[in-house]
Amino acid sequence: MTFLTHVECTVCGQRHDGKRLLTVCERCGQMLAARYDLARVAAHVTKALLRERPPGLYRFRELTPLDPGEEPVTLGEGGTPLLALPRLAGHLGLRHVWAKDEGGNPTGTFKARGLGMAITRARTLGATGFMVPSAGNAGGAAAVYGARAGLPVAVVVPRGTPTAAIAEALIAGARVFTVEGSIATAGAIVSKAAPRLGWFDLSTLKEPYRLEGKKTIGLELAEQLQWSMPDVLIYPTGGGTGLIGIAKAYEELRAMGWLDGALPRFIAVQAEGCAPVVRAWREGAPTTAAWERPTTLAAGLRVPSPFAGRQMLSVLRETRGDALAVSDAAIVAAQRLLARLEG
Ligand SMILES: *Cc1c(COP(=O)(O)O)cnc(C)c1O
Repeated sequence: MTFLTHVECTVCGQRHDGKRLLTVCERCGQMLAARYDLARVAAHVTKALLRERPPGLYRFRELTPLDPGEEPVTLGEGGTPLLALPRLAGHLGLRHVWAKDEGGNPTGTFKARGLGMAITRARTLGATGFMVPSAGNAGGAAAVYGARAGLPVAVVVPRGTPTAAIAEALIAGARVFTVEGSIATAGAIVSKAAPRLGWFDLSTLKEPYRLEGKKTIGLELAEQLQWSMPDVLIYPTGGGTGLIGIAKAYEELRAMGWLDGALPRFIAVQAEGCAPVVRAWREGAPTTAAWERPTTLAAGLRVPSPFAGRQMLSVLRETRGDALAVSDAAIVAAQRLLARLEG
C-alpha cells in the first residue's frame, strides 16, 4: 500500500501526480514536496509494529513515497545512533546535548539518505542516468547509489572540492567534471546538460524525493527521544534538505498524533564565508540572495545560492528559530572540543 496522495508545490500549492518523474513545480518553478494521507498512515501503523522492524531508511515505509512492492536502492543507510554528550553539555552549561551521528551512513554522510531515496524513485519512474552538481558529499553518494542501481552518473563539482569525495565518485564509476566557480556554476551546467543527455537532474530540492530520504533523520530522532522533540535543533545548513526535511518529519508525526506540542526552535548554522541564510534571516528577507565568493573549510556548507532559501527561512520563522554564522577557526576549535570531551 502507498500512502502518498500527491506532490504539491510548497509555494503556489499546485498539485502534481507523484507517479510521474517530477522536478520542480510545473506552474511556478518552485520546490515540490510529497504529501501523504496521514490519517490513513496513523490508522495503519502502530509504534509497537514499528519496534519489530529493522532500523534504517525504510523502517517508516508508510511515510516514504515507495509504491507497493517497490524495491529500494539501498546500502543500509539510516538507523544512526543518537549519542548523549554529557561532558560537552556540562562544559556548555546545558542539561542535555545529543548528536545524531550520521558518519555511520554508507557513504559517510547523511547524503546517503536523500540520494538513496531519490535514485530509488527516479529509477522506478523511468530515469536512465543521473547528473548532480555537488560540493562533494552529494556527488559521492549519487555515484555510489547510481552504481547500486546499475545506472550511469555524472557529477559536476567546483574546483577545491575535497579529493576524498571526488575519489568516492570516481571509484564508483561516475564521470566527474571539475568547473571553476562554486556549486552554483556547477548547477547551471547540470541544468543545461542533463535534459540534453536525457539524464535526470538530482540537484538539491529540484526533485521531490531526496527530501523524503533526508526526512528520515527527523523520524528517527522522534523515535529515539521516545516520541518527543528537543527544545532546540541545531543544523549545519547548506542546501536546506535537512532543515526542511526534519521539520517535515515532525509535522507529519504531529498530524498523525504521534508527537505533541511545538516544534523545536530550529537553528541554522552556516560558515561566515558563505552565509546566505543567515544574511537573509537578519534582514527579514523572504528568500536568500546569492553570496558572492563563497569560501569555507566546511565544503558541505559552500552553497551560495540555495534553491530552497524561501522554505528554509519559513522553517526558522515558524519555529521561532535563528540563524548563526561561525568562523572556520570556530568550526575547527569545536571539532577539537567535541573530540576531546566525547571521543
Ligand atoms: C550536505 C552537507 C551539509 C548541508 O546539508 P543540507 O541538508 O543540504 O543543508 C552539511 N554538512 C555536510 C557534511 C554535508 O555533506
